[in-house]
Amino acid sequence: MTDNLNPATDAAASAIDRSAADVVADLTLEEKASLTSGASFWTTKPVERIGLPAIMLTDGPHGVRKQRASSDHLGIGDSVPATCFPPAVALGSSFDPELLERVGVALGEEARAENVGVLLGPGINIKRSPLCGRNFEYLSEDPLVSGVLGSALVRGLQSQGVGASLKHFAANNQEADRMRVSADIDERPLREIYLRGFQRVVEDEQPWTVMCSYNRLNGVYTSEDPWLLTTVLRDEWGFEGLVVSDWGAVNERVTGLAAGLDLEMPASGGRTDAELVAAVRSGVLDERLLDQAARRNVELVQKAVRGAGPSTGSGTGYDADAHHALAREVGGASIVLLKNDDAVLPLAAGASVAVIGELARTPRYQGAGSSQINPTRLDSALDEIRLLAAADVPFAAGYADDGVVSEELVAEAVAAASAAETVLLFLGVPAALESEGFDRDDIELPAAQLALAEAVVAANPRTVVVLSNGGVVRLTDLASTAPAIVEGWLLGQAGGGAIADVLYGVVNPSGRLAETIPVRLADSPAYLDFPGEHSHVRYGEGLFVGYRWYDARELEVAFPFGHGLSYTTFAYGDATVESDDAGLTVRVTVTNTGDRAGSEVVQVYTSLPGSAVVRAPRELKGFTKVALGAGESREVAVHVRREDLAYWDTRIGAWVVEPGTYAVEVGASSRDIRSTASVDVEGAAVRVPLNLESSMGEVLAHPVAAQLIQQALAAGGDSTAGSLMADPSMFNMMASFPIGRLASFPGMPFGREQVEQLLAAANAQA
Ligand code: BGC
Repeated sequence: MTDNLNPATDAAASAIDRSAADVVADLTLEEKASLTSGASFWTTKPVERIGLPAIMLTDGPHGVRKQRASSDHLGIGDSVPATCFPPAVALGSSFDPELLERVGVALGEEARAENVGVLLGPGINIKRSPLCGRNFEYLSEDPLVSGVLGSALVRGLQSQGVGASLKHFAANNQEADRMRVSADIDERPLREIYLRGFQRVVEDEQPWTVMCSYNRLNGVYTSEDPWLLTTVLRDEWGFEGLVVSDWGAVNERVTGLAAGLDLEMPASGGRTDAELVAAVRSGVLDERLLDQAARRNVELVQKAVRGAGPSTGSGTGYDADAHHALAREVGGASIVLLKNDDAVLPLAAGASVAVIGELARTPRYQGAGSSQINPTRLDSALDEIRLLAAADVPFAAGYADDGVVSEELVAEAVAAASAAETVLLFLGVPAALESEGFDRDDIELPAAQLALAEAVVAANPRTVVVLSNGGVVRLTDLASTAPAIVEGWLLGQAGGGAIADVLYGVVNPSGRLAETIPVRLADSPAYLDFPGEHSHVRYGEGLFVGYRWYDARELEVAFPFGHGLSYTTFAYGDATVESDDAGLTVRVTVTNTGDRAGSEVVQVYTSLPGSAVVRAPRELKGFTKVALGAGESREVAVHVRREDLAYWDTRIGAWVVEPGTYAVEVGASSRDIRSTASVDVEGAAVRVPLNLESSMGEVLAHPVAAQLIQQALAAGGDSTAGSLMADPSMFNMMASFPIGRLASFPGMPFGREQVEQLLAAANAQA
């Protein structure tokens, strides 16, 4: 929001208190058009004549990036200090909606303190390929995880009277050619994978705004796609907020507004506002559509002003130390312990350790681009380890902060490694390789770091690898030599402390992989279709994204979706499942069988053996994180929403819960299933009206049509058709034959006209 938000005049008060439609009725055509685009990089336009203030929208998503004097949308300019919470790649691994809600609340407090009305996040696009340069800003390869955690963030943020901007809607799964590329996606994967998380957040939380993406979807810019922005988002999902463009995503403003794009950001210098005015005057654009967009803008301003409350003021209103502590807690809950042979970790206080790797001293804690926060403080892992170690901790950089390795640095590292009992080796993806705006070329750690790792492990096999990376890296070689690997992602400003907490057992790791770590890039689902060519990318893997792919192809993976170790162990009892109108309730008793408290992420996957449609072998449908003391047992109940069992039926354009006996798998990861059960689910039989194009198989599977056709065949006497139908192998051969074409064959006892009548009768009765 601009700095003077509180309405001072009667007119201003009424612009906030009156219905938005009334406010719009008082505006001129030019004023209405002006409301639908920004005044600057970050603010909307006020209408001073009636006292409607401007509001401020800023990035997002894991901190408040309010830029000072010089503004840009890529975080190049300076911004006011704000807590840099762990980016989404880490948050996703926490599998903890309550924690994300608390992060949302904290973000809301900071936004309010800076008079920010809308924070541009969360980003919940699906991680389709490990190469996407912006994977660090997204939560998961799975739509349920993205939707549940995205909802939690929105809930927390909006509880503070600050709006969320759910982005990037939709199918923005790569950075290559992101301003033009058309994501060409079939209907089922689009609905079931790429839109499903958005649907959940919209339906559950009503984010104040949704941000359309830069790319095209099946050939149409999302900024001007009436199907996406109006039919799906509003008519089907009931979205009531405002659609804002990604910064610079508007292609054709008039088309966009008519499609449902309410606010163009940033400013266009009035050029496109004039286009709107001209379009209304010439009759190309219905003024009611402009009124509608203007109304949504007024409503957004009203919500932001009300949300800001009376007592905001720049730089006040939140406890920076408490937020730093929260960032550390969240970081600790997001770290994934991938491997821990012989219980190398946790370290005992006083243990002899050497820290190797510049990343321990110079942390990589967030990704580059529009989400880059100017942190209030920054902890390094090295300092925090030294605080917890209760012993001298020698350090060797191993590589320079530009990633260059010299013989001298390696020699120093090897000497430090040899002299210590345990080595903490920090490796990661250099900042220059991972950013908004471009994708990675591979998933390798820098060769020089791997060479260093080899030398260090040779000198001291008791080496714990600690990783800093926004997108997954290939780990098979390291995993075959290093006894322990800690996936530290990008952990925000307090990540150094969070890592130290996990290494020393102050925090028992409980993060789980929200994305699969493949053995090699070539195994990954989108490998052959990424990033496309000539501004088209075909999502050829269809529904088989992430673990759905690796499981269906029975591919070995380095570390599976859902995996993550703890310093304790958990045992599962036998799961039971009940089904009712609301969905499934899965109950299982989980026991902490170790000697320290810890948290387990109980994951529920379903499948439907014998399904009539293509499905992945297992799909995550519910999860819960449960904290258990040493030796404690608890029955946990995981609810699976009935709508989450549905597939998108392309024949009728609707979600369908297929009836049948569902397999329910309960486990500690997608590849560590501890208990299975099955449950009968009632569902709706899909009745697709029959026509001449319907196959004989479909006709004979239809209860009424089958009877009518059999009768007609019988009435025709001993015909070729009759004998065809009586012989099972012949029937199989003919099952795919459209009945209309069969009807024209010689020897058929009925013609097309009679078949049409029979089908009409069957359709009427079904
Ligand atoms: C990014 C958005 C961001 C916006 C404003 C765009 O380049 O894609 O995520 O919110 O800039 O900075």
